[in-house]
Amino acid sequence: MTRSMADTTAVAGLASGVRGRVLLPGDAGFEEARRPWNRAVDQPVAAVVEAADADDVAAVVRHARREGLSVAVQPNGHGPSGDTDGTILLRTGRLDGVEIHAAERWARVGAGAAWGPVLAAAAPHGLTGPAGSSPLVSVVGYTLGGGQGWFSRRHGLAADGVRAFDVVTADGRPARVSADSCPDLFWALRGGGGDFAVVTAVEFDLLPVASLYGGRMLWAGHRAGEVFAAFRELTATAPPELSLWLTRAEFPQSPPMVALDAAYAGSAAEGAALLGRLDRIADLISDQRGAMSPADLGDITGDPTTPGPSLSRTELLTGLDAGVERVLTTEPLAPVLSVQLRHLGGAMADPATATGPHGPLTEPYLLYTVGLTPSPEAAAAVAAHQAELVRRLGAAVSGRKPFTFLAPGESVRSVFPEEALARLRGIKRDRDPRGVIRSNFPVLDGV
Ligand SMILES: Cc1cc2nc3c(=O)[nH]c(=O)nc-3n(C[C@H](O)[C@H](O)[C@H](O)COP(=O)(O)OP(=O)(O)OC[C@H]3O[C@@H](n4cnc5c(N)ncnc54)[C@H](O)[C@@H]3O)c2cc1C
Repeated sequence: MTRSMADTTAVAGLASGVRGRVLLPGDAGFEEARRPWNRAVDQPVAAVVEAADADDVAAVVRHARREGLSVAVQPNGHGPSGDTDGTILLRTGRLDGVEIHAAERWARVGAGAAWGPVLAAAAPHGLTGPAGSSPLVSVVGYTLGGGQGWFSRRHGLAADGVRAFDVVTADGRPARVSADSCPDLFWALRGGGGDFAVVTAVEFDLLPVASLYGGRMLWAGHRAGEVFAAFRELTATAPPELSLWLTRAEFPQSPPMVALDAAYAGSAAEGAALLGRLDRIADLISDQRGAMSPADLGDITGDPTTPGPSLSRTELLTGLDAGVERVLTTEPLAPVLSVQLRHLGGAMADPATATGPHGPLTEPYLLYTVGLTPSPEAAAAVAAHQAELVRRLGAAVSGRKPFTFLAPGESVRSVFPEEALARLRGIKRDRDPRGVIRSNFPVLDGV
C-alpha cells in the first residue's frame, strides 16, 4: 500500500467521531480548506477537521493516535512551515470564545480566538492583552511561540503572562495545565511551540492601560537616515512603557517610505513629549499619533488582512551601529518589500520575567524582512536578497531567532538555548512518545 493509500484508510472513520466538518482528499472544499494564510506554503495533509468544540479536538487526537497518524493544529496558518505531510490538519477557528474577567484582570479565550476580538472586548474595561502587530493572528498560536508585542517591553512576552491552559494531551485526554498542576508542560507551552499538547483554551493576565498614545508617522523614503537616527536615539532611553518599531518599505508602484510606529502606555501629553524629537524631521507624509483606544492597536502597522504568498526572514540584532544603519537605510530593498526594526529589551531581557523556554531575549532589536513570493523564482530572489542583507549586517546579527518569527526551513535550534532545547525534547519524548502532535517547528529533529 502506498503512503497516500494508507493515509486514506487511516482517516476514513474520522467523520463518524466528530461533530465538526471533516474534509478528505477529493471532497469539494478540501483544497481550499488545507491552505494556510501564507499562500506560499504548500500543506499536504491527509484530512482537514474543523473542530466544533474541545470534545472534537480530543476525538481527533484519539483517532490519530489509534491510526498512527499525527495532528497538525492550525487556527488559520499565519505561521505555516509546510511540515504537515500525512497529518490531520485540525482547524480550531470555531473555538473562538472570549471571556473578560475585568475585576480580576484576566481573560480566557478559545484556541480559535484572534487578538482583534480580545482587544475589543478588553478595551472598555481599561484593559488590554499582550498582542502583536496583527489583529488576525490567533492568541493561542502566538502565545505558544512566546508572542512579542506592543507591551512586551513592559510586561514580557505574551507567554510570560499565561495563568493556565486547557489542553488535550497526546493520548487524547483533557487536562488543565498550570504552574502547580503540571509544571513541566506549563513551562514548555509558554514559548516552546505547539508540540506538546493541543490547547483548547488559554487564560492570561490582562494589562491595565488607563491611557494609550501612539500611531504611525510616515515619511518619504529619502528621510530614512534621519528617522533611523531618531529611532536609535529614542530607543536608547525609552521607558519600558514605550515601544517603537521602524519600517522601511518599497511597495511596487509606490514611492519609497519610512515609518515609525509607536505605542506608549501613558498619557497623550507624556507620549507627545517623548516623541517630540520626531517633529523635526521633514517630508512627513502622514502623522497618526494621538490618544488611542487599545482596541485599535492592531491598526497601527497596517498589517496585511488578506492571505497571500510571502517569505519572511527575522534576525535578532545586538545593536545598531553605523554599518547596520548603512545597510538598512541606503541599500536597495527590492525584491524585499520591507524591513522592520522592533525595539526589544525591558521585561523581555529580564530573567525574572522571561522564565519560559526562550529565556531572556538580551538582543535589543529584532529585524523582520519580508517579500512577496508569487512564484518559486520570486521566492528564490527574495531569499537571496534577505541572505545578502543579513550577510552585510555582519556581527550585529546574533544568530538567535524568536519562535513566532521562524520561517519555513528554519528550526528551533536557532531559538532556544541548548539546555532549554534539551528539556523541551525530554518533555516531548515523555508526553508524546508516538509523535501524535506535530508542531509547525518540532523540537525533535527529523520528525
Ligand atoms: C501578519 C503577521 C503579523 C505577525 N505579528 C507578530 C507579532 O507582532 N509578534 C509575534 O510574536 N508574532 C507575530 N507574527 C507571527 C505569529 O505570531 C506566528 O506566526 C504564530 O505562530 C501565528 O499563530 P496562528 O495561530 O495565527 O498561526 P497558525 O499558523 O495557524 O499556527 C501556528 C502554530 O501554532 C501552533 N498552534 C496553534 N494553535 C494551537 C493549539 N490550539 N494547540 C497546539 N498548537 C497550536 C501550531 O504548532 C501551529 O502550527 C505575525 C505573523 C503574521 C503573518
